[in-house]
Amino acid sequence: MFSSVMSAAVLGMEAYPVQVEADISDGLPMFCMVGDLAPEVREAADRVRTALRNIRIPLPPRRVTVNLSPAHIRKIGTRFDLPIAASLLTAMGIIPPEHTGGILIAGEVGLNGKVRPVNGILQTVMLARDQGCTWCLVPEENAREGAAVPEVAVTGVGTLKELLEYLTYPEKGRKRAQSVPDWKEGEKIYPVDFREINGQEGAKRAAQIAAAGMHNLLMIGSPGAGKTMIARRMPTILPGLTMQESLEITRVYSACGLLEEEGLVKNRPFRAPHHTISANALAGGGRYIQPGEVSLATRGILFLDELPEFSRRALETLRQPMEEGVIQISRTDGKYVFPAHFQLVAAMNPCKCGYYPDRSRCRCLPGEIHRYLGRVSRPLLDRMDLCTEVSRVDYQNLVLERKNEDSRSMRTKVESAWKMQQARYQNCPWQFNSQLNAASVGEFCPLGNRESRVMEIAFEKLELSVRAYHRIIKTARTIADLEGEERIREEHLLEALGFRGADQKFWNPE
Ligand SMILES: [Zn+2]
Repeated sequence: MFSSVMSAAVLGMEAYPVQVEADISDGLPMFCMVGDLAPEVREAADRVRTALRNIRIPLPPRRVTVNLSPAHIRKIGTRFDLPIAASLLTAMGIIPPEHTGGILIAGEVGLNGKVRPVNGILQTVMLARDQGCTWCLVPEENAREGAAVPEVAVTGVGTLKELLEYLTYPEKGRKRAQSVPDWKEGEKIYPVDFREINGQEGAKRAAQIAAAGMHNLLMIGSPGAGKTMIARRMPTILPGLTMQESLEITRVYSACGLLEEEGLVKNRPFRAPHHTISANALAGGGRYIQPGEVSLATRGILFLDELPEFSRRALETLRQPMEEGVIQISRTDGKYVFPAHFQLVAAMNPCKCGYYPDRSRCRCLPGEIHRYLGRVSRPLLDRMDLCTEVSRVDYQNLVLERKNEDSRSMRTKVESAWKMQQARYQNCPWQFNSQLNAASVGEFCPLGNRESRVMEIAFEKLELSVRAYHRIIKTARTIADLEGEERIREEHLLEALGFRGADQKFWNPE
């Protein structure tokens, strides 16, 4: 007898429909699987046969053929165990064939019949919806994630026995569907807060401006000055996620198998890969291609500590996603596009020992300092809208009991700046000041006579590149937004110019 059950393959971040067909016919007893299968999919034969025997349903001693179609899509992972079992049970006449229509099934099965979680369930359920399915059976641990798609009923399956039960009595299975998670854009609770940082007013201000316009930020200063402390607190001043953003992030984490219990990602990501990371791990790659750190940081912060220590190749891979908000990876089996809409926050020491320009402590030779700073290429430096020097806090500031502004109050200002940008760019393909292209800077950031004059002088005196020139105006736009002002004024430009001071000081010394 022949049967067919719907499932899905996940490649990169996308799910593709796969039909799992089983046929049991007369002939020598054997189990044969076809359809462009990775080795672990082939091994499903042994897992499923043993698991079925362990729930006392041995396969008949006949010729069993399982086909995963279409053949041109590579099937990887262990997610086909459960649909193979369902298809076999149907072909054996145990499950009525009409009960498997309009259902999508995915999951791994252990030898004892327990169902184990798999990657990519969110996109699998989204595919089920697009294919007109009304019900999905997925591993119990993945049910909450799948339930984020309200159009499809998603039931978690704990064991092979449960699968059999739900497919025999579908009403019962549908009744057990996971409830759709309610989405609250409520308060996020972070273990850290800007309130805890004494002093560092310049760097805190830079962090707030960066957050307000999603600008890239470079902090430069000696070891122990507090660069990492500031970076770690940046997610605490970013506005909460919308449902749409959460789904985008969850898809990435689901594809990588990094989702935690609750299903949907609720906090903005903060990713801080070590400087030994390879270009592939940063951009995405691997034998079975998966998103990399730039995608895991999407809608959040990618923090690169010790920026000059990253390999040149790794840093170069950042340029395209920084411009486009997505990363494209070409492979022999096709082209993959992953989201990479991150805010880059980088930190570095000014020299190898970390104490330049403090000549009483720094023992580096001028050539060494030059080489060290030179590891951060000019094009990358030009993409950092704000560059701020973080110096060690003096003792007075450290011990003084102060009333520092807390993250919640900083976030409120950032939120109002985001709202101004939303209103301004509602008909545009971008959301933030930092994303304005050169052609639109003139339209959205007009300068008065006085302000134009300031920029003219700065352009000549600081020998700005065109890119840097535009970035200063965009940063000034954000500073004006933080103050709720429609017009960019001279003081906004001067503050924005001040955040190029550190890179002038270190990279273009007189
Ligand atoms: Zn030094």
